[in-house]
Amino acid sequence: MNIALIAHDKKKNDLVQFATAYKHILEKHELFATGTTGLRVQEATGLSIFRFQSGPLGGDQEIGSMIAKNQMDLVIFFRDPLTAQPHEPDVSALIRLCDVYAIPLATNMGTADILIRALEKGAFSWRNIIHKRQGE
Ligand code: PGA
Repeated sequence: MNIALIAHDKKKNDLVQFATAYKHILEKHELFATGTTGLRVQEATGLSIFRFQSGPLGGDQEIGSMIAKNQMDLVIFFRDPLTAQPHEPDVSALIRLCDVYAIPLATNMGTADILIRALEKGAFSWRNIIHKRQGE
């Protein structure tokens, strides 16, 4: 499965902790991230991650473009609800696209925990049907 990892600055430590705890699951999948988040997670875990631009420089939109092509299977996006983001429209657009394409999206650790365990138990196998239909 293709998994996107994104965290706003004050949530990056949480995502590093999350990725460290679930490295054994994440390493079985293709990982994508916005620039700084990807670097932090890579440095802490050694996981192989394709890094897009930093979020405020277009990284959210690059991940959004994969969602729009139905190529992203899970989005883990630790938002900071207490800090204004210069790229708020991109953040909203990314979340909106997850809803358009019914892509599982976790915006906090509680949901991410449940989704990653569900992924490990095979709950995302329906996404294979979509990949097959797209000829991937
Ligand atoms: P970053 O982007 O990982 O490059 O910090 C995340 C974001 O703010 O959307």
